[in-house]
Amino acid sequence: MDAAGTIARGDLLIRDGVIAARGEAVAAALAALPGGRAGATFDASGAFVLPGLVHGHLHLCQTLFRGLAEQSDLLRWLRESIWPLEAAHTEASIAASTRLGLLELVAGGVTTVNDMGTVRHTEVIGAALEESGVRAVFGKALMDQGQGVPRGLIESRRDALEGALAIARRFHGAADGRLSVSLAPRFILTCSDGLWGDVRDASREHGLLIHTHIAESPPEGREVKTAVGDTAADYFAAREVLSGRFVGAHGVWLEEAELKRLARAGAALVHCPGSNLKLGSGFADVTRWRQHGIRCGIGSDGAACNNRLDTFHELSLAAGIGRTLHPEQPLAAREILALATCDGARALGMGDRIGSLEAGKQADVIVVSADAPHHAPQPERDPYATLVHAARASDVRLTMVAGRVLYRDGAWATLDAERALADARAEARGLKRRAELTETRA
Ligand SMILES: [Zn+2]
Repeated sequence: MDAAGTIARGDLLIRDGVIAARGEAVAAALAALPGGRAGATFDASGAFVLPGLVHGHLHLCQTLFRGLAEQSDLLRWLRESIWPLEAAHTEASIAASTRLGLLELVAGGVTTVNDMGTVRHTEVIGAALEESGVRAVFGKALMDQGQGVPRGLIESRRDALEGALAIARRFHGAADGRLSVSLAPRFILTCSDGLWGDVRDASREHGLLIHTHIAESPPEGREVKTAVGDTAADYFAAREVLSGRFVGAHGVWLEEAELKRLARAGAALVHCPGSNLKLGSGFADVTRWRQHGIRCGIGSDGAACNNRLDTFHELSLAAGIGRTLHPEQPLAAREILALATCDGARALGMGDRIGSLEAGKQADVIVVSADAPHHAPQPERDPYATLVHAARASDVRLTMVAGRVLYRDGAWATLDAERALADARAEARGLKRRAELTETRA
């Protein structure tokens, strides 16, 4: 996934967490090492070696909600299911939710996540991210108003911002730079004018990404118009919220003029095709985003609206949607794969460090097997097509972040899978009960 689109058969040498050499350069680099050989090797014959997948929009706190919030459109789904469940979270349930999500993501080749979090317990998510070894941008969701928001998720404007900055002080740049913190105002309907201004100022002052939802569904767009008298992008532009640090998820209903505003500001968008299809939100037009020169990533959104956290599945859906919207000029499979690698990294402002296998970049690397019946008979004929249209998360054999193996052939190195699954089952039951109690009381 380098700029030249190199596909090579050969070795990759990793040293001190960084890609030291690839292909023909490996022999000379190895010879220069003490002893002339690598300390450990992984045989990736019959497999593709790829930059680790960048997951651009996610709610790890919602992994426990999988199967608990079916059959409604976005706003009803949030008000009737998701927010009461988020309000019912405890430290233990949010830890279980985060670990369950990470189990699935790491085994599916994800090395970087961009997580939205929820209002409370963000430090628990941060600690779980740290121990898991993944690379992450994460934030505390900011909500200081909104119809149907449970009391447990509403904060004052001041508490919201101060809470976010406290998380940034503790985690931004932590774990050898693997963790960074974003500001995560949930969306226009749950954040006051004043809070958006605070977020803009704090993003400028501390260099933090702004991660939010934008133009996800038509009813949401109508409520936004009624509430603020504007489209989402125009509202953000008027408040100078848009910049190269802005990452907006969904963007399904952005109009031409809004895309121009986003492009002018250098903002990024994240495509969430599986979530958009399941909630009936619509088809985001990534081809048009790209034509405007907007940096684009891809993500699955939370497990409650997908319900997979399988990036390969998202790639396949993105390809199908792109083809349907532009039958004559569909995005190439390489452009689709870029959403989860080099382009996805650029969308998060990390393009110089991750997203391709090039010497000097962080050793965020995955090995994807290509020898199962569903890849046969000639997976190597068009590797991009194989990876976008045929590969599955379960094809991943190795996941490495900064040179550290997190997952290898069915075994997790940093996460206790058995315990995480048992905790998730137990915590999901308690969570549902607490959410129902809250509802009855309301
Ligand atoms: Zn989301």
